[in-house]
Amino acid sequence: MHLSAFTKPGRFFRGNLHTHSTRSDGVIDPAEVCRRYHAEGYDFISLTDHFVGEYDYPITDTTPFRTGGFTTILGAELHSGAMHNGEIWHILAVGLPADFAPSNAPGFLALPDQETGPEIATRARAAGAFVAVAHPQWSGMSLDDARSVDAAHAVEIYNHGCAIGCDRPDGFHTLDLLLSEGRNLTLCATDDAHFYEPDHFGGWVMVKATANEPELLLEALKAGDYYSSQGPEIRAVHVEENEVIVESSAVGTVSVMGHGSAAIGAHGDAMTSARISLDKFAHSDWIRVSVMDRAGKRAWSNPIWLT
Ligand SMILES: [Zn+2]
Ligand SMILES: [Zn+2]
Repeated sequence: MHLSAFTKPGRFFRGNLHTHSTRSDGVIDPAEVCRRYHAEGYDFISLTDHFVGEYDYPITDTTPFRTGGFTTILGAELHSGAMHNGEIWHILAVGLPADFAPSNAPGFLALPDQETGPEIATRARAAGAFVAVAHPQWSGMSLDDARSVDAAHAVEIYNHGCAIGCDRPDGFHTLDLLLSEGRNLTLCATDDAHFYEPDHFGGWVMVKATANEPELLLEALKAGDYYSSQGPEIRAVHVEENEVIVESSAVGTVSVMGHGSAAIGAHGDAMTSARISLDKFAHSDWIRVSVMDRAGKRAWSNPIWLT
């Protein structure tokens, strides 16, 4: 049993799926945002400005900044309707058409007559987007909220801007509970960069594709052919009989997590491969893998379904 990201043909392309610019509340213009990501060794980004009326519903046109070796996927962060706590939804949509129709969302206050978050997410998915539930911990999102986003492909499990800005970076708890309900979700790490604090170049995805082209990257994201990282490389994850085998760049810890409290860690010096018994996962339909290097930087596989 293999994760397809590690067996499909192609190579890994490094991308940031969640970014803002002066087209909404970021402080760097789109050209400079793209230049900086390219200069930092990224292969692509999605510029996902806030899709609200006060910014004139931007689907920021990044096509002029595609160069040899760097591409972009059109996208936006969608806002419409209230979560259980009364605050407006944040939904990440990567791969939107340039003419995606606005909701009635003048700003960041939820209004009673708006399209709901799950509804705009469904519309974005139908329009071709890869849809992620953005920063659940930062939003104070309930499990019911997260569960209601039927259209989600993924949960944003690490948001670097939320880590730097307020130490609420996580979506792991939300993701793991939904996986245990049988939801076939993947996970993504992002920057959510606005460039007014050190909120950039901290969390990214590595997407397996045969070329660095927006349509191929988007297709791979939707298929789950990627992993997420803050630094380490994951080179292979597969299940053989009752073990999971993980190959990576040099790390000190390899962890496997599953349903409920099922989890196990393996530790060592400069480990590049680990074999971990799945004895503890007899009641798990799914597992996922993380690795951590000596600097404390982590990388995360998408889930593997064991059943
Ligand atoms: Zn947000
Ligand atoms: Zn954002």
